Amino acid sequence: MSSSPTQSPGGRRARFDELRARVSGTVAERHEPSYDELVTPWNLAVAMRPAAVVAPLSAADVATAVAFARAHDMTVGVQATGHGAVSSLAGHVLLATRHLDEVAVHPEQGWARVGAGVRWTRVIEEAARCGLAPLNGSSPDVGVVGYTTGGGVGPMARTFGLAADRVRAFDVVTGDGVLRRVTPREHPDLFFALRGGKGAGGIVTAVELDLLPLASFYGGALYFAGEDAPGVVDRWRAWSRTLPEQATTSFAILQVPPDAPGTPPPLAGRMAIGVRFLWVGDPQHGARLLDEMRAAAPVLLDDAAVKPYTKVGSVHADPVDPLPGHEEGMLLTDLTDEAAARLLAVAGPGSGSPQLMVEVRQLGGAYAREADHPCAFTHRDAAFSVLAVGIALDPAVVPHARWLCTALADWDTGGIWPNHGPPHDATSARRAYDEPTLARLAAVAERYDPDGVLAAAAFARRSAPAART
Ligand SMILES: Cc1cc2nc3c(=O)[nH]c(=O)nc-3n(C[C@H](O)[C@H](O)[C@H](O)COP(=O)(O)OP(=O)(O)OC[C@H]3O[C@@H](n4cnc5c(N)ncnc54)[C@H](O)[C@@H]3O)c2cc1C
Repeated sequence: MSSSPTQSPGGRRARFDELRARVSGTVAERHEPSYDELVTPWNLAVAMRPAAVVAPLSAADVATAVAFARAHDMTVGVQATGHGAVSSLAGHVLLATRHLDEVAVHPEQGWARVGAGVRWTRVIEEAARCGLAPLNGSSPDVGVVGYTTGGGVGPMARTFGLAADRVRAFDVVTGDGVLRRVTPREHPDLFFALRGGKGAGGIVTAVELDLLPLASFYGGALYFAGEDAPGVVDRWRAWSRTLPEQATTSFAILQVPPDAPGTPPPLAGRMAIGVRFLWVGDPQHGARLLDEMRAAAPVLLDDAAVKPYTKVGSVHADPVDPLPGHEEGMLLTDLTDEAAARLLAVAGPGSGSPQLMVEVRQLGGAYAREADHPCAFTHRDAAFSVLAVGIALDPAVVPHARWLCTALADWDTGGIWPNHGPPHDATSARRAYDEPTLARLAAVAERYDPDGVLAAAAFARRSAPAART
């Protein structure tokens, strides 16, 4: 498979007409009005420039588009929301899954079937009508399938594990253009690869996942002034170590612009630190546990309360509107006194940090345990995750994020979550996966995508041990 298509624009157009005639969904090339609307990702820092975008209406459309790309020597990428956009796909085909929008909740058996274009918000709302909850991420605006195929570490990760741990089945179109049903017994190699391997196993058209009997929770965030960050972080480090697994917590040093929509006045245009807490258990017990953090410094804003699960997005309060973001993540073996001091020196009060957010999540608990079926998510032994998010257009953001990683290098596991450093080349792939996992992902790519049609599988082929010898 070549890395860019060789046909002339005229020849390509004629061929996309052939595709248009064979699918029920939209096919738009660059000159067509719906192209920009379909390709523009949530992360505006990535300029998507595929030769054409296909918005399928069915799994059959997905299979037709993959077979077409295979026949015409193109690769195929996939986008639901563009929260995780990494590549322009210049000259190739983008599948925009937004119309694959089925959500069917099965309350008696506690599971849901969810189409590839669905965001967590809809699953949360539809499950909540039956007193159930999914294992979504911090932002309900993110796509279910993109999140889950990257493992999915959410605001209840210490209590219930990863989203990928709760998958029952996928419907997926593999690179050979075949629509397959994937479960622990049917194509177990794909079942392994699709849970953590991002899109390397294929293009998911629907996923079936377990829901939890959870109508409400105790939690939210406590916000303190940025200048109190050293004391808050110090207290959080000691306090978080004492928490049972019913609690998942993180802190985030925030610098929200004064004009950011929806920001509460005490937080706008200043440095603040938020301590996030989600407690699954007796609410009074959770409130008492959080009282210890309330005493760390004067609280600017106390958002913790008993909430219906539909309010889970309030715990992290991630931005909803599209922005040109740059993310830099890493995983830590520990957050010692020295590590916390270095983090605060680079990103805390007086540091001049340009980041919108520098976040540390406590891991462990159910996150650290393999689920019933092994999967391609590798870094269960990390103790903390770190994520810096800034505006990509600010020239200070990338060097500062690298500086932060250097400052924490003594505790760096060397790993990264596939969702925070989407694997796209050998270096990022070796951070996202260990060698045995890379070898298994490469074997899956060879078997189900022999012509290298899937853009998201390229990293597995390039970085597998055999490919490097
Ligand atoms: C505000 C925000 C909050 C976040 N919070 C968390 C969090 O708490 N925990 C966490 O783990 N991650 C988190 N993430 C990262 C997020 O999970 C990834 O960016 C994820 O890839 C987004 O999926 P998407 O479908 O919305 O994005 P898209 O950009 O549409 O897709 C990203 C990638 O997902 C894969 N993908 C999407 N659809 C399919 C499909 N149908 N078949 C196969 N592969 C597919 C592809 O590799 C694709 O390139 C967050 C990101 C943002 C921007």
